[in-house]
Amino acid sequence: MEKLVITIAPTGSIPTRDTTPHVPITPEEIVADCVRCVEAGASVCHVHVREPDGRPSTRFDLFRQVAEGLRARTDAVLQISTGGRAGSAFEERSERLELRPEMASLTTGSVNFPEGVYANPRDLVERLAGRMKELAIKPEMEIFDVSMVEGALDLARKGLAEPPLHFNFVLGLKGALPATPKNLLHLVETVPAGSTWTVSGIGRAQLPMAVHAILMGGHVRVGLEDNIYYAKGVLARNVDLVERVVRLARELGRPVATPAEARRILGLGSGGAAAGSG
Ligand code: ZN
Repeated sequence: MEKLVITIAPTGSIPTRDTTPHVPITPEEIVADCVRCVEAGASVCHVHVREPDGRPSTRFDLFRQVAEGLRARTDAVLQISTGGRAGSAFEERSERLELRPEMASLTTGSVNFPEGVYANPRDLVERLAGRMKELAIKPEMEIFDVSMVEGALDLARKGLAEPPLHFNFVLGLKGALPATPKNLLHLVETVPAGSTWTVSGIGRAQLPMAVHAILMGGHVRVGLEDNIYYAKGVLARNVDLVERVVRLARELGRPVATPAEARRILGLGSGGAAAGSG
């Protein structure tokens, strides 16, 4: 079994300072939180940005500040979200790719969330995948439902994504696939041999899904993007969630990957975007 790649997703689009004082909002806060998490054992940083008032943002200069800060202060893999909750048009979601992160998230289908349709039409997904391929950015296929695996395989068939593919199974969102061991097992058995996968359990599913992934040979994403609690009624800091996964992995006999090891496991180009930092 490969070493465990831990992704930290510190901010996302949902948590606010009204729900937790621990969510990093400004680029400086996001970088500082990621640095702590990388020191604790995370090797991939999954980045969203916010306006100063906390609203989700598509602003290039904010993404640039985070990218530059992370490249200066860590050797972690930078993974930028192309999620559409802050702005849905192709240009809004693709401009940040010009920062040439080593990875970017790519949701391969649409979902009925409680607040409305999270729309990822096929032509938009293909354009985002094509731009990532041009810039040698590895997509992390964000899988909210089983049919989205097929959407990712379709991109590979069309030459818009290069196998081996990397998947992130996002389980437990209202309106998408529930976080059960059976659903996780089905997804793992559905992706092609040689693929890598991470699991993001939402809310209280974060902890059990992380344990399943550690045992099954997958990788783990934690962070306030997906879950703001350490335990019932106890708010978490990002670093608390990373440290817990590191302890669990150690107890379960699964070593944790360094950023360099994560690059090899995930099949990222040597050097990559981190080498081009400035
Ligand atoms: Zn995200």
